Amino acid sequence: MAKDTLEKLAKAIAKKKIRVIDLTQTLRPSTPVIQLPPQFAPSSPFSISEISHYDEKGPAWYWNDIALGEHTGTHFDAPIHWVTGKDYKDGATDTVDVQRFVAPAVVINCAKEAAKDEKFLLTPKHILAWEKKHGQIPDGAWVLMRSDWSKRTDPALFLNAKEDGPHTPGPSADAVRFLVEERNVNGWGVEAVGTDAGQGFAFEPAFPAHTLMHGANKFGLASLCNLDKLPPTGAVLIVTPLKIERGSGSPVRVIALVQDE
Ligand code: MN
Repeated sequence: MAKDTLEKLAKAIAKKKIRVIDLTQTLRPSTPVIQLPPQFAPSSPFSISEISHYDEKGPAWYWNDIALGEHTGTHFDAPIHWVTGKDYKDGATDTVDVQRFVAPAVVINCAKEAAKDEKFLLTPKHILAWEKKHGQIPDGAWVLMRSDWSKRTDPALFLNAKEDGPHTPGPSADAVRFLVEERNVNGWGVEAVGTDAGQGFAFEPAFPAHTLMHGANKFGLASLCNLDKLPPTGAVLIVTPLKIERGSGSPVRVIALVQDE
């Protein structure tokens, strides 16, 4: 590798030959949080309260207290989030190898399918069709499922809860198994509130994107946006969760580096 690779990269970013795209939703009290059946403990919504605002409480400064669950808004799922990943020494937000926070991403466009079917499931067949066009998913890459679900700005429509559970798109168990066993991905990312499909509780195994990904020490990203601004291949993701001691996940500012054609 040329010694000036990084210098060239920095210049290309400064000149916007390489653009930085924000894949992050704005955090606010109305940010949708995953809803669990009533027998399970819920995660609190995001809250914010002013400490001072250039006033008698702090004449020259403005700042806030915030409170939120680790899995709120655009966020990172660490392997120890799931019982299948609980024993990974490098599976918590403070122990993950930071080298893995910078990784290539591929985007599988399922927007049309998700528009027609709110419960659309990505299968190995779709992945193989994508690979036929774009090449094999590289080792250590993020696989991102574009569904345009982030364009649902109404929190109720975003969560899309129904009598039989949420109706949101996601991966089939076989798709997750394929990505873990046949492709060695860095992790799996989606636009919906959680990495699993809304009906994932009824899959075998239940919640495969959690059970299998985290069981293999891989990551998750949920509530992403702007996936329609990424190319199918070639983007590089920078994902830096807060360094919470023994954290199971963290709100995260996800950015993507994209080189224009
Ligand atoms: Mn999560």
